[in-house]
Amino acid sequence: MRPIDSDYATARARFVAAATKAGEAPMVWDHPLLGRNGEALGTDVVGFGPVDAPHVLLIVSATHGVEGYAGSALQSAWVELGPAIPDDTAVVLVHGINPFGFSFDRRVNEDNVDLNRNFVDWSQPVPASPDYDAIASLVVPPEWTAEAQAESTAALLDLVVAEGLEKVQAAISGGQYSHPNGVFYGGTGPTWSHRSLREILTKFAAAAARVTIVDLHTGLGPWGHGELISPSGSGAADFKRAQQLWGEVTSMVDNTSVSAPVMGEWLSQVPKWLPDAEVTGVALEYGTVDPVTVLQALRADAWRHGAEEVSPELDDEIRLQLRSVFLDDGAAWASELWLRFIQVVDAAIGAPTLPS
Ligand SMILES: [Zn+2]
Repeated sequence: MRPIDSDYATARARFVAAATKAGEAPMVWDHPLLGRNGEALGTDVVGFGPVDAPHVLLIVSATHGVEGYAGSALQSAWVELGPAIPDDTAVVLVHGINPFGFSFDRRVNEDNVDLNRNFVDWSQPVPASPDYDAIASLVVPPEWTAEAQAESTAALLDLVVAEGLEKVQAAISGGQYSHPNGVFYGGTGPTWSHRSLREILTKFAAAAARVTIVDLHTGLGPWGHGELISPSGSGAADFKRAQQLWGEVTSMVDNTSVSAPVMGEWLSQVPKWLPDAEVTGVALEYGTVDPVTVLQALRADAWRHGAEEVSPELDDEIRLQLRSVFLDDGAAWASELWLRFIQVVDAAIGAPTLPS
């Protein structure tokens, strides 16, 4: 696979060019804000195959902004190779669902919201997160000096020793709605990306009896490994369907996956939007570096977002630190991702899609 692009605009242009060359101009959901380099932002959606296909495979990139570098490159590479798709199937590529985070090298959106914590039931009071609240000022301390980092990190590690890694990981990453400048913040209502995703899904999958979804992520698990994570427990019908399609699948709610159980993720909401379809969704999560390195970058990034004053040098340093834990620029990582991606896509539609 070609090396991963260096910024959102380049990645987007590559995807749009590939789709257009393949005869499908993307449908665009324009984002109201501009990107880090003043560029327009948007989500581009392309469907290959019959619009009324009984089976739709949706492949989504950049739910977590910066993770979109990898997802975008995989989507573009697949389009560029001219895939073959069975007659009963449409493949819909959703490029850059969180374009702001992608452009700004952040995992979250324009409001510091983690899109995969934003799909709670907003007609109800938001869930409480007492375990996060108790350690919020350790996770994102008011200062980010070397001393503040060392002290807060030591305190968090003490907590891991006392309470176990699983509990602390769940407290930090499970989702919280009380600290807008914290990590894994779920927001105060449906975000632009949330609303757009729902529109896109209901538009492109309305006629389908069967909907398969692969949501592309990076940052958890061993380097280059692509784990398929179901939002459902191992007893659920969609989990079993995922196993039939792909073999080994882990469960977010059963604690068999690299992710802690989280509140407000989006895959589990899709059956409500498409009540007549049989929906099978998974996250394809590719590993980068170890979880402590990832967490340190996320803490720094959240501090940077909430800080009143950050020097341009530190601002850029933290941005690049964050980028580096969700993306490996090397060709070896990209080819690991590509091999797994093809395997997952081909299994999802029951046929080899690329010319051999
Ligand atoms: Zn992610």
